[in-house]
Amino acid sequence: MQRFLQYINGVFEEGASSFESLDPASGQPWALMPAAGPADVDRAVRAAHDALHAPAWAGLTASARGGLLRRLGDLLSEAAPRLAALETRDTGKIIRETGGQIAYIAQYYHYYAGLADKFAGQHVPVDKPDMEVFLRREPIGVVAALVPWNSQLFLSAVKLGPALAAGCTVVLKAAEDAPAPLLEFARLVHEAGFPPGVVNIITGTGADCGQVLTSHPLVARVAFTGGPETARHIVRNTADNLAYVTLELGGKSPVIAFADADLDNVCNAVISGIFAASGQSCVAGSRLLVQRPLLAPLLARLCEKAAAIRIGAPDDTGTQMGPLATRRQQSRALALVRESVAQGAQLLCGGSVPDGFGGGFYFAPTILYCENSDLPCVREEFFAPVLSVLAFDTEEEAIAIANDSKFGLAAGVFTRDLARAHRLVRSVRAGVVWVNTYRAISPMVPFGGFGESGLGREGGAEAILDYTRTKSVWLNLSDAPLPDPFVMR
Ligand code: NAD
Repeated sequence: MQRFLQYINGVFEEGASSFESLDPASGQPWALMPAAGPADVDRAVRAAHDALHAPAWAGLTASARGGLLRRLGDLLSEAAPRLAALETRDTGKIIRETGGQIAYIAQYYHYYAGLADKFAGQHVPVDKPDMEVFLRREPIGVVAALVPWNSQLFLSAVKLGPALAAGCTVVLKAAEDAPAPLLEFARLVHEAGFPPGVVNIITGTGADCGQVLTSHPLVARVAFTGGPETARHIVRNTADNLAYVTLELGGKSPVIAFADADLDNVCNAVISGIFAASGQSCVAGSRLLVQRPLLAPLLARLCEKAAAIRIGAPDDTGTQMGPLATRRQQSRALALVRESVAQGAQLLCGGSVPDGFGGGFYFAPTILYCENSDLPCVREEFFAPVLSVLAFDTEEEAIAIANDSKFGLAAGVFTRDLARAHRLVRSVRAGVVWVNTYRAISPMVPFGGFGESGLGREGGAEAILDYTRTKSVWLNLSDAPLPDPFVMR
């Protein structure tokens, strides 16, 4: 079995204990991972805290920090095939997806490398004579970054990029499911030449590692991606250290298709929106809202396409859909589909574990037709390839159904009517709205949600400001002594 190590203060080392990671395609253990215990977490945070003020990091110019980030991006670009193979092995995400995605993540490091010396403080034209006031943007401090198992390298890049550009130091916790790609990524951080302690990469359970990390008194900032329930724990954990928190959480994103939309375009967007990454994506377009005249032709096309998806080994370049990452996900998907069908959802295709894959965590592409939104498959996030379809007649009805969700992460609007597209953009409650496209992302564009989908935004230039705090500086330019406060004038 392959062994992985944690990375603390510039040193690769064993964890307090270890655990097996399962290959989702076979359900068998394939690697031994280091589990950080509370003492490891404490050492990692202290290393980050020491590094924050040490001249080797604090003394660098912003341009030099950018240089290190650029080098990290270059190394990531070179290592993309190796990391893609690891992510595919550990998460079951197909190699066709991991290959392209990881190569693109380098752009995030390059983008924040370029921004490192382009954000600045401010001069304030203050209303007091003789006073010079300026604002310094200083690194906020030690960042605890936590990611879930899907797309760990990507979800880390949107945290590490702005954090390091701002001059912070980081303890990054890989998810305990499928941590291999991030633990391997630590080798690139090391090779890029970041001083010891600036970036520490560990993994472990929520209780022993995640909780200790997010409640640590030396942590000033928590950047979390994961589920809403864990997010509530995180907020409670930070009641003690009062860390500044951003939360990127789940979704139940609507794809709204009007009758005038291009059928091929909608069909491809829906298929990639829900079946890419086997549906294990926070922005999965898991609720399809279709205007009635388009319903029959679109459903026929979608079912045909779903049935033709080639399910197979994730490392086979011919495979179009691989397994889910964990057995837990597979069991949850089965249970939610059964419950939804029992409550009235109509199963159009899939809904079961496909034959011929032994103990692998596979789940068939599934489409459910739903008369209303009161079904578990419409309400709950699956994180599986399950699409719930609802029909609507009017624009108002479409908006009402789209907004009838505790989540508000993303939405897709498909129409050729420009004015209607703009009305939907204004009315739909989501952090990202795609019009006649779906899933487009870029380092330059902020990302985040409303309601149970989260708090704050990641990506884009402004993300750096979230890793800084303002210091207001007052400078008295007068040579005259200050007035005596006890002498009346
Ligand atoms: P999760 O919430 O279970 O785990 C996320 C991380 O939190 C893991 O590292 C875990 O160890 C840690 N953790 C667990 N309990 C903790 C605690 N008490 N204190 C501190 N840390 C703790 O997430 P998951 O179920 O593995 O991932 C799926 C979720 O992530 C979905 O809801 C999905 O939508 C969401 N997600 C969101 C985005 C986004 O950008 N909005 C992206 C990907 C995934």
